Amino acid sequence: MPLDRAACAALDRDDPLAEFRDAFEIADGVIYLDGNSLGALPKATRARLADVVAREWGGELIRGWNTAGWITMPQRVGDRIASLIGAEADEVIAADSTSVNLFKLATAALALRPGRRVIVTEPGNFPTDLYILQGVHDLLGDRVDLRVVEPDRIEQALDADTALLLLTQVHYKTGRIHDMARLTAKAHAAGALALWDLSHSAGAIDVNLNAAGADLAVGCGYKYLNGGPGAPAFLFVAKRHQARLRSPLSGWMGHATPFTFGDDYVPAPGVERMLCGTPPILGLAALEVGVDLMASADRRAIRAKSMALGDLFIRLVEHACPDQFTLHSPRDAQARGSQVSFGHADGYAIMQALIARGVIGDFRAPDVIRFGFAPLYVRYVDVYDAAMHLKDIMDSGAWRDAAYQTRGAVT
Ligand SMILES: *Cc1c(COP(=O)(O)O)cnc(C)c1O
Repeated sequence: MPLDRAACAALDRDDPLAEFRDAFEIADGVIYLDGNSLGALPKATRARLADVVAREWGGELIRGWNTAGWITMPQRVGDRIASLIGAEADEVIAADSTSVNLFKLATAALALRPGRRVIVTEPGNFPTDLYILQGVHDLLGDRVDLRVVEPDRIEQALDADTALLLLTQVHYKTGRIHDMARLTAKAHAAGALALWDLSHSAGAIDVNLNAAGADLAVGCGYKYLNGGPGAPAFLFVAKRHQARLRSPLSGWMGHATPFTFGDDYVPAPGVERMLCGTPPILGLAALEVGVDLMASADRRAIRAKSMALGDLFIRLVEHACPDQFTLHSPRDAQARGSQVSFGHADGYAIMQALIARGVIGDFRAPDVIRFGFAPLYVRYVDVYDAAMHLKDIMDSGAWRDAAYQTRGAVT
């Protein structure tokens, strides 16, 4: 028998991160297991956004670019994100969306490897990562070739034609973690660059870009960083590449001196050259609150708790619902991000029945129910209660209700 509820409550009492839960707004009766898709609302975000709107925008008007420090927000928020991902402060900026940052960095990386045409990635990568590469291919034609290979064939696929290896560190559907240091070293041995998508890593697992020798990275602001729906994303360029990397979206905010209003594009010296247009200040203000909160938590405690919550959920579900679900995530916590996925042919309806009871996870086609464990606000008792709700839904057949069979636009 896995832990009972009282034992889970005891783990919560001993949790070094316990105090963080109160920093978030989570309604009574809601067990929020989707922080890997949209992080919860930090309480401080309300006041910060109200202040940015009323005092900075309303009061300062255009002066706010200087007086409220808006113009340097991409760097300021990037500096804080850098501290979460093992990067130097001047290697990260907050900007655009993950998709747009992927486009900028993948395209720019090709130019750093003239004569090499191949971008290696894996099938089943997050769709936008593959779609953006397909768009780069459409744009550049013969200059680029995509080599989409199964994860166990990535190393063999890296060769003298490879310009870039693009991988997502933590797989969005299964939570499987790629060995960033080893694969980056293999890419370098082949003469290629490595671009890592950290969307499901930043704020969830230990990321150490510079220790791994990573060249480029992108990541998401609205998942574990709790920046709010559609929050700005971030990008990383290792210092050694900054002077040569050219953005294909050479907008004025990436110019060395935007306010000289010259006719010719001259890239800014550092990572700022990867900025494009005017930064979204309201979005950055919300992101800054989320990132500051995350940066104030102990990273080792975050990772330890993320592994413990996932282990607990797997044990509880397999005990409570024997043989009903297929585990799609690595059983070994070291190899798993902060999420657990189970397969079931009726996964969609089962997840809808859970959501109707306030247990919010999500569904990923064709058959995956996915549960994210954001260590700052998910408690051990939440994991226990979620597993018991799942058991009840399976035992009673409640998921068969017609109301749970119709799919919404967002699953
Ligand atoms: C969430 C996620 C994205 C999101 O991209 P957007 O541009 O914000 O829509 C990209 N890549 C991965 C791996 C993700 O998990």
